[in-house]
Amino acid sequence: MRRPLIAGNWKMNGTAAEAEALLTAVASAEAGRAELVVCPPFTSIGQAAHHLSGTCVQWGAQNVYPAPSGAYTGEISPRMLKVLGCRWCICGHSERRQLFGETDDFVSRKVRALLDEDITPILCVGETAEERRDGRTAEVVQREVEAGLGAADAAEAAQMVIAYEPVWAIGAGQAATAAEAEEVAAWIRECVFRRFGAAASEGVRILYGGSVGSGNIASFLAEPDIDGALIGGASLRAEEFISIYNTANA
Ligand code: PEP
Repeated sequence: MRRPLIAGNWKMNGTAAEAEALLTAVASAEAGRAELVVCPPFTSIGQAAHHLSGTCVQWGAQNVYPAPSGAYTGEISPRMLKVLGCRWCICGHSERRQLFGETDDFVSRKVRALLDEDITPILCVGETAEERRDGRTAEVVQREVEAGLGAADAAEAAQMVIAYEPVWAIGAGQAATAAEAEEVAAWIRECVFRRFGAAASEGVRILYGGSVGSGNIASFLAEPDIDGALIGGASLRAEEFISIYNTANA
């Protein structure tokens, strides 16, 4: 049985004071059957560790550089995240692919570097509106899944999290339908099965992300291949985020 997972991606939001307020509020979430994770900007990960230690809320990062240390000005290593208590890290978010030119190969190196530090990658995959219109959703998602998991083995794949985030639904206020999300989630599971076998495909957790809120989360969680959600905008509102989590616990 896969444990539901609700993860929040704050993106580039939250000054120290704002993060303080949000983390204090999220820390009040009550433990349930689902896992709850917040991924603040690097500048607030120390604050997250301070406020969330000893609560049911875990924390992670939104990005990482795939090297242990060295001359990589402005970058953060997996080990740095590890010592701050991060157990999760988002990789391959479409904003990083589109705005910062991250390639499949680079994302795959990040996944490998995180696994080496026992940090669970949340690998984001998803098609653009144009790719969907052209009937290329399955092809694009397969490529991103295979590349992202390219340096992992079957046991590692079984522990991973893959977030299906159609680019056209992110921050759009208009989510995919649960049926659309399930169709791609099932395909992602099939891709993992073909490459790594049954144990990995049954173990890997697949999230949906893209305009999820308390009003639509239940419809996604009702789908057999969707194990939770990656939440952007709604993770900045503690009450809304906890309400999403409580639905996953129900
Ligand atoms: C995201 O950026 O990962 C995301 C899902 O954003 P939103 O929930 O705001 O659509």
